[in-house]
Amino acid sequence: MCKMEITDIKTYLLSLDFKFRIGAMPPLEATGLYINIKTDENIEGWGLSHWNLSNKAQKVFIDEVFRRLLVKKDPFMVEEIYHTLYHSSNRIMFGIPQATSAVLVACWDIIGKACNQPIYKLLGGMKKKIRVYASMPRGYKPKAAVGAVQSAIDLGGYKGVKLRIGGRGGKPEAIIREVRDVFPDLNIMVDANSTYESVNEALKIAKFCAKHELTWLEEPMPSDNLNGLAKLKTLSPIEIAGGENDMGIFRFEDILSKECYDIIQPDVNRSGGFLQLKKIDAMAEVKGVKCIPHVFGLGHQVAANMHFVMSTRCDWLEFPFWPEQYQILEEPIKIEKGFVKAIDKPGLGVEINKEMFEEHIVK
Ligand SMILES: [Mg+2]
Repeated sequence: MCKMEITDIKTYLLSLDFKFRIGAMPPLEATGLYINIKTDENIEGWGLSHWNLSNKAQKVFIDEVFRRLLVKKDPFMVEEIYHTLYHSSNRIMFGIPQATSAVLVACWDIIGKACNQPIYKLLGGMKKKIRVYASMPRGYKPKAAVGAVQSAIDLGGYKGVKLRIGGRGGKPEAIIREVRDVFPDLNIMVDANSTYESVNEALKIAKFCAKHELTWLEEPMPSDNLNGLAKLKTLSPIEIAGGENDMGIFRFEDILSKECYDIIQPDVNRSGGFLQLKKIDAMAEVKGVKCIPHVFGLGHQVAANMHFVMSTRCDWLEFPFWPEQYQILEEPIKIEKGFVKAIDKPGLGVEINKEMFEEHIVK
């Protein structure tokens, strides 16, 4: 038995014939989730997840995500298993903050429609237009990155671009050098999507970014490593941005009091909705930290963050650089000469593209 292999994982939702209530939570119905791991040595393991309102969600999560990650792994290699599950799933687990935020955005769409006002005015309007930077997808080789940046400038006149350099095996330095050489005056941001594990590695790329006069370095290290990020920020010659995977005022108080970032990037659709973001923005303002939301996704996500930035001191809007039809809106949001105008219609002020909705919605 030098190597054992996991062959399958089964989950069983246990529902007892009683309900109970803890504090203000709705009554708990599903009272447990049993996890059964099978191996090629015919030894089985059992675990029971703590009762929780999320038991049903946990079942789907284990069946559809963890199962794929665990089959063929050696059950003795528990450190490897922990790191695989943690690094592959922490952004998936962020689904609950995202779901909470989306519910609140939909409430504000109703409030805006009921008041016949765009959300940004109800939040305290600040401006009518904002400069935009193109957020480039990941995976470009250096020459292709130059081509993509040129297309962004040709199509929308973007005032800046954000390059993604995360992931092992890429050539971050080559991408940065190549794009900077061709566009000496462009605002260039880079996003490492939590790639670097150590402060030293992250500092090396931060110094490289500073040498090439980039605007900021985003999520250089895992977003849970607040102490590492705080140390990096004190040493970095370039501004450090992050916060797209964090939610709520208490988490952002930790981030701000530890001085992890020069720029925080909460997202209306992920970090708790409009009012949490307004509070987070105020907390950042008194600390002298910028708040420039994270924006990535389809039209409703862009629109929600647009209303927020039109009601704050923020001076950049991130805009996903992909074909307009990906917004799935009847009237796509347009970039004109590098700027976007406030949406002056009630609520979010955007309509789902009915044809695409009908065609693609999972029934
Ligand atoms: Mg990012």
